[in-house]
Amino acid sequence: MPEKQHPTLEELRNIFDLQLESSLKWRQSTAADRIKKLETIRKWIFKNQKRIKSALYEDFKKPFPETELSEIFPITIEINHAIKNLKHWMKPKKVDSSLSMLGTKGKIYFEPKGASLIISPWNYPFNLAIGPLVSALAAGCPVILKPSELTPHTSGLIENMIDELFDKSEVAVIQGGVEVSQRLLELPFDHIFFTGSPAVGKKIMEAASKNLSSVTLELGGKSPTIVHNTADIKDAAEKIVSGKFLNCGQTCIAPDYLLVHEEVKEHFMMELKVAIKKMYDPEMKGLEHSEDLARIINLKNYQRLLTLLNDAKNKGAKIEFGGKSDPETLYIEPTLVGDLNDSMTILDEEIFGPILPILTYKKLEKAISLINSKPKPLALYYFGKDDEAYKEVLHQTSSGNVMLNDCVLHFLHPNLPFGGVNNSGIGKSHGYFGYLAFSNEKGVLKQRVGLNNSTLIKPPYDLKTKKIISTLIKWL
Ligand code: NAD
Repeated sequence: MPEKQHPTLEELRNIFDLQLESSLKWRQSTAADRIKKLETIRKWIFKNQKRIKSALYEDFKKPFPETELSEIFPITIEINHAIKNLKHWMKPKKVDSSLSMLGTKGKIYFEPKGASLIISPWNYPFNLAIGPLVSALAAGCPVILKPSELTPHTSGLIENMIDELFDKSEVAVIQGGVEVSQRLLELPFDHIFFTGSPAVGKKIMEAASKNLSSVTLELGGKSPTIVHNTADIKDAAEKIVSGKFLNCGQTCIAPDYLLVHEEVKEHFMMELKVAIKKMYDPEMKGLEHSEDLARIINLKNYQRLLTLLNDAKNKGAKIEFGGKSDPETLYIEPTLVGDLNDSMTILDEEIFGPILPILTYKKLEKAISLINSKPKPLALYYFGKDDEAYKEVLHQTSSGNVMLNDCVLHFLHPNLPFGGVNNSGIGKSHGYFGYLAFSNEKGVLKQRVGLNNSTLIKPPYDLKTKKIISTLIKWL
């Protein structure tokens, strides 16, 4: 089959121009207009669940139930939540007047930002492409969507879905890799929503600055997980195993490294191993036969992960569990690593795979200062029943999200902002916050005609006016 030609800048510009034109019409769209679009997506997803699951299985052997849980379910939550709340979100919000604004009426209007670009990653290829699309459509923005080139089955299916449901002036899917992405970034989009690595995030922001396009950057990083000596050890171990090895560890908010209190380390390690076997090898046939564990996306990432592991081993790290791998099937066993030191790359780079380094601490402040010595993470997890210690962690660290006594699950909360801070991201997504990402919050002030405060303060600045000004400064 001849390889599909990627669109030229000229062709991309044509689609962009169409969308720019339609964005003006969309400014006047009602909640009902937008809800109709969301409903067509929801209907398509319900009808095509099997195709979605098969595409993800083809791309990296993602188990069907995991696709249901982490690709389809989060999108149906997003759509249902937006449909239920859109009318309320779109309603202009009245703001209180201050004394100096006496007699005026202030309101915040939410206007669609306009022609938008969404660039999505491979690790949750359906969820992270369609999630931001739902927010953009709810906000009234036309979209060019560029899904990941590393998941061709899912990206192809997304293109089919969008072609079936939308005119190119509303939503268009452009497939391709870095080159196509860079070509798209030359266009003066009103908003760019990017999900991917911090390294590429910097390039996106640089490109966006040329047109002063606003950006939402959903990035990654190393999400720390503290297991304090007050934690329910079995419960913590089970939750960490299921959060870490979901999608074979290729999750932006997966626990990246653990900080375990020395007093509970031995017990916790034992429970961690029990939990891995219970979840991925209940019949004791060997973890490599597990159909509930996805595989690594490609050979490049497989080799990257083994390089991280070998670097740690060569510098004295101990494999506490797992360690097996197979390049043929792109399998890496859930692997626990101990005896770590600062010289190891595994403690610097985002792991993004089924390898879990475990550090220990005696005093909580040591764990906190280690977290604070690294770039701000996307998520931070704390397991423990001690409220004081939890508050110390909460108030002395900075991260995109925090979860107490569980991990990863916060992604599904429709009313919480999701996203990072600095190195792990700029801007927030999900629900109302996703709607805001694609909306311009326009402050509108209505003045009375005739006498009002401002008529008292205008040139000539005579003694009386000066007195009014100094009274204003003193009392308002
Ligand atoms: P990536 O940054 O390599 O690629 C993401 C997208 O950017 C792809 O569509 C790719 O084609 C495009 N791209 C790559 N290089 C580019 C360049 N130089 N210029 C323009 N576009 C370019 O990320 P990935 O490997 O697909 O995904 C893994 C990363 O994404 C991890 O760091 C992970 O933590 C992060 N992530 C973050 C979230 C979140 O919600 N915050 C979710 C999933 C993944």
